[in-house]
Amino acid sequence: MTYDPNNIFARILRGEIPCNKLFEDDHTLAFHDIHPQAPVHVLVIPKGAYVSMEDFTAHASDAEMAALLRAVDKAAEMTGAKTGGWRMLANIGANGGQEVPHLHIHVFGGKRLGPMLAKG
Ligand code: 5GP
Repeated sequence: MTYDPNNIFARILRGEIPCNKLFEDDHTLAFHDIHPQAPVHVLVIPKGAYVSMEDFTAHASDAEMAALLRAVDKAAEMTGAKTGGWRMLANIGANGGQEVPHLHIHVFGGKRLGPMLAKG
């Protein structure tokens, strides 16, 4: 899959579309999901143009990779999701149900999140 520079998260990164920002650093942006599926639902994205995890691991620098993982942890900390436990999740490609073609990691928390996958 080639990177579409007009995907919604690329436009958020360029400041063309607003977001409810939690924090950002040199390599990452964390912001609240527009349709939260839990009391805490944050998206953590790399600032670089990466479609998916395989694109990211193949082409991102070690600094970008470390920053993304640290940002996920920081998002859980800042939102209070660590109290009681939380979940990180990345949908990749068609089978994964990925809707936005810019790598993003969901951070969920604030309630019992239920089974990892929908049953049935
Ligand atoms: P995916 O299904 O690709 O893993 O997740 C995409 C997520 O992006 C969804 O949870 C959706 O609610 C969120 N989303 C889509 N458009 C926007 C937007 O414009 N702003 C924000 N904050 N979230 C968005």
